[in-house]
Amino acid sequence: MATIRTVCAHDCPDMCSLLAHVEDGRIVRIQGDPEQPFTAGFACGKVNRDMELVYSPERLTTPLRRVGPKGSGAFEPITWDAALDEIVARWTGLIAESGPETILGYAYSAHQGLINRGLTNGLFHALGTSRLLGGTVCDSCADAAWEATVGPIGGADPESASESDLLISWGSDLHATNVHLWAKFEQARKRGVKLVVIDPRRTRTAQAADLYLPIRIGTDSALALGVMHILVRDGLADRAYLAEHALGFDQVERDVLPRFTPERTAAITGLSVADIERFAAMYGVAQKSFIRIGFGMSRYLHGGQNLRTVALLPGVTGAYGRYGGGAIVATAASFDLNYNAVRKPSGPATARTVNHLKLGEALSADASIRALFIAANNPAITNPDTAKIRAGLSREDLFTVVHDPFMTATARYADIVLPATTYLETEDFYRSYGTYYMQYGQQVVEPLGQAWSNVRLTQTLAARMGVTDPVFNMTPPDIMKELFRGAGLKADPETLLNGVAVSIAGRSGQEFRTPSGKLEFYSQTLADQGLPPMPDWAPEPAAAYPLRLLTTPGYFQSHTAFSGVAFLRQREGVPCAVLHPEDAASRGLTDGQAIRLKNDLGQVSLRLRVRDEVQPGVVLVPGQRPDEEAEGGTVNMLCADGYTDMGAGATYQSTWLEVSAV
Ligand code: SF4
Repeated sequence: MATIRTVCAHDCPDMCSLLAHVEDGRIVRIQGDPEQPFTAGFACGKVNRDMELVYSPERLTTPLRRVGPKGSGAFEPITWDAALDEIVARWTGLIAESGPETILGYAYSAHQGLINRGLTNGLFHALGTSRLLGGTVCDSCADAAWEATVGPIGGADPESASESDLLISWGSDLHATNVHLWAKFEQARKRGVKLVVIDPRRTRTAQAADLYLPIRIGTDSALALGVMHILVRDGLADRAYLAEHALGFDQVERDVLPRFTPERTAAITGLSVADIERFAAMYGVAQKSFIRIGFGMSRYLHGGQNLRTVALLPGVTGAYGRYGGGAIVATAASFDLNYNAVRKPSGPATARTVNHLKLGEALSADASIRALFIAANNPAITNPDTAKIRAGLSREDLFTVVHDPFMTATARYADIVLPATTYLETEDFYRSYGTYYMQYGQQVVEPLGQAWSNVRLTQTLAARMGVTDPVFNMTPPDIMKELFRGAGLKADPETLLNGVAVSIAGRSGQEFRTPSGKLEFYSQTLADQGLPPMPDWAPEPAAAYPLRLLTTPGYFQSHTAFSGVAFLRQREGVPCAVLHPEDAASRGLTDGQAIRLKNDLGQVSLRLRVRDEVQPGVVLVPGQRPDEEAEGGTVNMLCADGYTDMGAGATYQSTWLEVSAV
């Protein structure tokens, strides 16, 4: 039996190093690599069965051409040559007729490899097509808020959490989305370190907390300011650290903090004064408090302000200055690689851009996009206002190609569907966005059926479209070397080819890369954008419906990328919506019945679960499920495609609705 060292390519901050055991050309076992300190020998419950992803009977094994109405899923098998001939003929004709911007092509995050994803985007950049402003459905608001506050650099090293003296999971369900950080937390807790969980849902992580704060959605900034108020009141602010490393705290102290008394903070957040005081007291005496900030708080109308304010908190106690303290949202910004070598090998300096979250609008309202190529993304499920997306995808004059291992909801609308490899059937180079590791992942087995990697497809299309940049003729190891050529991150890529994970983390305190070089309580960058320069909290506009939607990753269906594994679908259970007993009773609803979630954008039916894991006034929908599993579509149909305050991101958590019996 051969054991091959590789990397988990799922969209997950942990970026586990994996050992895949192969017998007679088939994967028989997958485990975490015990030699990688963060992975520490275990892969999560989703991925330790990824053999079932590779060998799923639902895998696509041959190219397909549409033979029925768009969305119907009626296809016939065709050869790769026939598929490529048709794609190249259509693209060439459209470019000759209307120019390259009539095409929109992209690969997104379901495969985290920098080469497979980057080279696909590089092809479309070289062709001069319209470009996707990716990430706005996910992390652009969080990134913008962090950058305005701390700068374009990663946060605290997650491995340092085992040395912390107070652990805080703020809007992050570690059991669902960051299990290896949970393991670090557990190491610290064995030393008696306390865990505080701040989350509108009583998650599994919250159930394990020493102090659980069931915060009202969208009020994180108010809680952070309330804690700062108490820290100042009680003389627990680190004045020396603030004087040396922060900008504008004096203005915040004078103009903002007096308004966030414990009583007002309690009224805004729905928490008790006693709990806020207790949390602030714990935070104030800790020297190395570690905050894991979840992305969810940023997917909200005032999401940037929310996340930015929480990110300021460790500056007040000086926790940012100590290894084991500080805060982390992501780490990717610290990997200073030459991404453009792969993503932008050639092509015009500017071209039309389409905001990812406005993809539906771009396809529906702007018929000048006449060809669409999508890899590693399922926007018909995951984008907000999915009805708009589906209306656009239904256009008969839109030539759509989808490259995916499975027949996704999006692929059902395609004219050509191409079978893609999973990450275990291709090689790639990875850098984590939740740790400081990078690693070259080996190909474990041969592609299933006629599946092709994104790299193979992209290089073949490049040749047929006459794109001659050298990267389209290189092997993946050579493409990886291009990522390091002229890059700020100094490492010998040759040494990475042995497949061993390498960390770039140090043991110093948080560095700030803002324009001032300090932690910016006052941000001139935000002021210049017409945004509040200081942290604050403001109420949302009045809602037209009484219940607020809370969507979270499922424990076994954190992405639709896992929906091709029947076992994981079963473990996740029936697609459901969770209501507090008071809300269920006031509507005459009982556990287990079919309910309809409805607002002006649409309706979707799910199975009701009555639980007090959410507060009254909240409807929780865990996991993103394919159409076939839900009754009547996806919950993202109910979410508008408006922008967050920073980063032009999506506002999934600013969705209001009503619930009734079906
Ligand atoms: S925890 Fe994340 S990175 Fe690790 S195996 Fe699971 S999905 Fe992959």
